[in-house]
Amino acid sequence: MTNHLHDGLLAPHEGRGTVFLHLPDGSTVTHGAFCTLAARYGAALVGAGLQPGDRVALQLEKSVHMLAVIAGAIRQGIVFLPLNTAYTPAEISYFVTDAGAKLVLCDGRNEAALTPVARAAGAGVGVLNADGTGSFAQRSAGLDPLPVCPAGPGDLAAFLYTSGTTGRSKGAMLSHDNLLSNARVLVEYWRFTADDVLLHALPIFHTHGLFVATNVALLAGGPMIFLPKFDAEEVIRHLPRATAMMGVPTFYTRLLDDPRLDRNLTAGMRLFISGSAPLLAETHRQWETRTGHRILERYGMTETNMNTSNPYDGDRRAGTVGFPLPGVEVKICDASGAELPRGEIGTLEVRGPNVFQGYWQMPEKTAEELRPDGFFITGDLGFMDADGYVTIVGRAKDLVISGGFNVYPKEVELVLDDLPGVLESAVIGVPHPDFGEAVVAVLVPEPGAAPDPDSVAAQIADRLARFKLPKRVVLREALPRNTMGKVQKNVLRDELKGLFG
Ligand code: ATP
Ligand code: MG
Repeated sequence: MTNHLHDGLLAPHEGRGTVFLHLPDGSTVTHGAFCTLAARYGAALVGAGLQPGDRVALQLEKSVHMLAVIAGAIRQGIVFLPLNTAYTPAEISYFVTDAGAKLVLCDGRNEAALTPVARAAGAGVGVLNADGTGSFAQRSAGLDPLPVCPAGPGDLAAFLYTSGTTGRSKGAMLSHDNLLSNARVLVEYWRFTADDVLLHALPIFHTHGLFVATNVALLAGGPMIFLPKFDAEEVIRHLPRATAMMGVPTFYTRLLDDPRLDRNLTAGMRLFISGSAPLLAETHRQWETRTGHRILERYGMTETNMNTSNPYDGDRRAGTVGFPLPGVEVKICDASGAELPRGEIGTLEVRGPNVFQGYWQMPEKTAEELRPDGFFITGDLGFMDADGYVTIVGRAKDLVISGGFNVYPKEVELVLDDLPGVLESAVIGVPHPDFGEAVVAVLVPEPGAAPDPDSVAAQIADRLARFKLPKRVVLREALPRNTMGKVQKNVLRDELKGLFG
């Protein structure tokens, strides 16, 4: 019997003595040892009463044990839902109840807080600490591996909840082939081989660190330097041993802040990849000046894994997310789904083996976003240039329509960010009696700077059409961000909704 994802990602590694993980304490985990651990945890999941298709919720610190319990779930056909470690017990309650999880695995220090949450949802609780201790780990000790549970390409592997940037997180149902097909494409497109050493400092409860990074490393067969979190000091320490790194834009800006980042430090690197949020063209340029490497930016989302990528060999264009990946179709459409001419801004729609199976228990939402012909309406706005490069200009929900004109916040933000004394900005639409919506800019000053909100519009009047200029500028110490570091414009819109009346 076959198990699509297990056979593709894990089975080839059984019994292998090659290194899968380099851990920060200098120890290593071989591929073979990882598979053995995964099989044991898989048996413990079954021992806890989980059947194929049942859900296990994981709120665990990043560790080899979390990865192994995920691999064990895949092996036994159990659907896993990794949860952000920053979520509070009240938030976990929503996910566990929504997913109908039968078991919640957590760290020992959260056991007391999560036990009532799990009980209320009818789920059991097990402890699996990052050091491999805890009640679940104990129950797995000495268990023999169970036969691999059959699973086809269309069977569900995971519920991955979206980041909740635009509203409540939605559970994206991902099949075995959604994950495997995308990993295969990425390995080839980005030329990963068993000789690569991937520096891994991303969280593994999100698509980037879990499916993009880990699955690519497993398929390629090389090791990962597996760091518990992003820490510039640690990343700099390990960079000389790595050949590739995947990061969010803040990894790159923080590393640029460190004077030790130079050509020498990154001499052994083959590839730097960025995604999950827009990378400023300025960061791209600074990175090249300092290291000689051009960052490869790609675009994806929880529901689809990766959709587009800058090329490996060709021109990696700053500010763009590159071309549709092989097998993935990308269309730029108007609201009715009709394709727009090249160069025009519209909603990105994508179709391919990477596109998810729908939102768990949200049939209306699924029907709104997944067209009958298989195209998924991403909610992101962008355009494709004459050469086929895709540029994301923002989310449809963040588009401002002022006096009948479309204002793309990113365009205004880029200009504002250039102003002296401005660290970062967020442009939103706020209800306005005359214009429908008014453009409002929220500015975060650089430390020690005090930009004058009333003169901002005048300062940028020569760079932007009048209807794009902010009608009001508000200063803030920081922008509201979710646990993935993404700016929550819905929070700002809510706070400022009464500004004009
Ligand atoms: P929610 O759907 O719950 O509001 P979210 O969309 O932030 O949250 P994710 O699936 O983690 O949840 O993020 C996907 C989104 O991240 C994309 O739809 C896009 O808006 C953004 N994104 C990802 N990569 C890039 C990129 N390279 N450039 C610009 N935006 C990106
Ligand atoms: Mg989203």
